[in-house]
Amino acid sequence: MDLKKHRSIAIDGPSGAGKSTLAKRLAKELGYHYVDTGAIYRTVALAALRAGIDPADESRVAALLPDIRIGMDYDGDGLQHMYLNGEDVTGAIRENRVSAGASKAAAIPAVRAFLLDTQRELARKHDVIMDGRDIGTVVLPNADVKIFLTATPEARAERRWRELLERGQSADKARVLQEVMERDARDTNRASAPLRQAEDAVPADTTKLDFEGSYRLLLRIIRERMGGTPNE
Ligand code: C5P
Repeated sequence: MDLKKHRSIAIDGPSGAGKSTLAKRLAKELGYHYVDTGAIYRTVALAALRAGIDPADESRVAALLPDIRIGMDYDGDGLQHMYLNGEDVTGAIRENRVSAGASKAAAIPAVRAFLLDTQRELARKHDVIMDGRDIGTVVLPNADVKIFLTATPEARAERRWRELLERGQSADKARVLQEVMERDARDTNRASAPLRQAEDAVPADTTKLDFEGSYRLLLRIIRERMGGTPNE
């Protein structure tokens, strides 16, 4: 049994603030395990959509949970692969309909309860940098470092829009902004584990920062909070 107490870093914030790209790079730098918790909610939403169930339908989604097998592993580049009943769905969960579905399924308390242990188990076994909405408040309330990453909705929509274009998907900027704001509203206003800054989280606003600037800011926060020894 591994008795070492593992370190954990929680990064929460709204969609498009840069959590996953930053967390991935920080994990590599620090030698931590990167856990993208949004991908787990996305996998549940995909399971619902494939079963012809509206991800917002609380009782039908809850009834589906016992039939869902969620798996994850990491490739050599540290990319987190998600599996739904054995099938690699890493690409499929990034579709736009799944993004909207995930924030609906994530509002269902039975879904959150179903996924809580999976997330905590990862932090028991590894040094983790985990990103999501409720990591610092609910999943890992004793995390060594908590960061609340934000940027204005306009800046986040602009990044999402560019990402879609880079992936060869055409997108309307105003529509992307509207979707970002709708997801923010669902994530912030839900009763179960809403998106909010933990009292002991350090706020970091990336609106005016590029990737490198944001990365340096987060690394500085982590080193300050861990007394300069995040990888010991
Ligand atoms: O981070 P990402 O955008 O991939 O997450 C998809 C959705 O999953 C979010 O909009 C949010 O509703 C939900 N989520 C959550 N709690 C987390 C991570 C994601 O509710 N810890």
